[in-house]
Amino acid sequence: MPIESFNPYTSRIERRFRAFSWAKTERILAQAHRTFAEWRTTTFAHRARLMHRAAELLRERQHELARLMAVEMGKPIADGRAEAVKCALCCDYYAEHAEQFLADEEIRTEAQRSFIAHEPIGVVLAVMPWNFPFWQVVRFAAPALMAGNVGLLKHASNVPQCALALEKIFHDAGFPPATFRTLLIGSDLVEKLLEDDRVRAVTLTGSEPAGAAVAATAGRQIKKTVLELGGSDAFIVLADADLEAAAKTAAQARMINAGQSCIAAKRFIIEKPVLKEFISKMKTHLLAFRTGDPLDESTQYGPLARPDLADELTLQVEDSVKQGAKVELYGGQSKPGTALFRPVMLSHVKPGQRAYSEEFFGPVAIILEAKDADDAIRLANDSRFGLGGSIWTANAQRGQELARRVEAGAVFVNSMVKSAPEMPFGGVKKSGYGRELSHLGIREFVNQKSIWVA
Ligand code: NAP
Repeated sequence: MPIESFNPYTSRIERRFRAFSWAKTERILAQAHRTFAEWRTTTFAHRARLMHRAAELLRERQHELARLMAVEMGKPIADGRAEAVKCALCCDYYAEHAEQFLADEEIRTEAQRSFIAHEPIGVVLAVMPWNFPFWQVVRFAAPALMAGNVGLLKHASNVPQCALALEKIFHDAGFPPATFRTLLIGSDLVEKLLEDDRVRAVTLTGSEPAGAAVAATAGRQIKKTVLELGGSDAFIVLADADLEAAAKTAAQARMINAGQSCIAAKRFIIEKPVLKEFISKMKTHLLAFRTGDPLDESTQYGPLARPDLADELTLQVEDSVKQGAKVELYGGQSKPGTALFRPVMLSHVKPGQRAYSEEFFGPVAIILEAKDADDAIRLANDSRFGLGGSIWTANAQRGQELARRVEAGAVFVNSMVKSAPEMPFGGVKKSGYGRELSHLGIREFVNQKSIWVA
């Protein structure tokens, strides 16, 4: 893929970048590796000062960052600002809690003293997607830098300006430049980087094929990976649920980031007695979403990030309809090769259809009918993915019990799935492994060293 900012709303190429050569990439890696030796000796207090400053800069620059997201991947400007502010929260969170999360953990044994020390491991490579171009990176970078690691970012090829803007934020906040660098490289150099001993681990957020490729290389090199991959999350509505609230949230959960979110609700599993009413209510809410220029304050969803993504989604919908799905709401692309995609709703979705088994990364609501709660759980779990599910019921106790039976990294009862710095985030099955955020996230890339004093 060329490294360029292609505006999906105007179809104009805003900027082109020359990809770094291996020689340049290797020089940056060498600097990062050298810097790690010093960076790891700095105090938490020092790192926290810089991280709070990065948070301030994210807030101060939120308008500019939102503009970059709008022109590079079509995110509405108001959503872009909210993303920048959320990144600031994450920076503040780790600035405040990293020392406590990585404190020595005493263990009672026969030794005079035995404990776990948490030590940084070195250069960590982050391979990141374009959908939340700041948030995905910050939720890796804030804990990594606070732990004393250094980060190299290989961002998606269509968001180079976002990648550079984030690098500038860390540098302007006072982090030594080599502690966080953006590499403008294609995915072809990722393997070479992973084969270098100075790269100690890799985190990837993206598709299943990319995760499998990177993890295979890392595995050959005995390097740890965290994988945050795709999802086709279930949004279960039981017959006793507040249907209006469920349908309204369902539409929001499907439309977030124009449907291009790993944790967007994608499969709506509805108990039979309320199926018709739910479809009608959700349709009304989907139709109320306003599209337009992502730079316009009133726009609620913009184009998909690239025209080829819209073409692929159209194909998935068309194939599903040929396979027996029924179109409840007509939307989609106005013509092939364009990025705008209006919401679509499919019902009568059955095994054997693409809509039943694949991730639809855009505003397509897939409706499945469940006979009862047990059937709803069965359908929810009949998926290769397991990222975040949602259950709607008037009985919160029953909701919690059912939540335990959903194969997913997170389940929300009477709420849409969302990420927050305090709560662990990650998947099971083909949605990946490892956790980001919370105290678990910062411990992924540290050496949990046992120390025993006889
Ligand atoms: P993608 O095509 O997999 O790209 C993600 C990143 O991986 C990009 O930086 C890409 O670089 C790189 N990449 C792709 N193939 C690679 C390979 N063979 N070796 C090394 N690097 C490679 O995914 P996307 O289209 O940007 O994002 C959509 C997918 O990400 C969806 O499946 C979504 O569910 C998932 N996602 C998951 C999470 C989560 O937290 N679980 C969050 C967001 C998105 P190039 O751009 O240069 O190709």
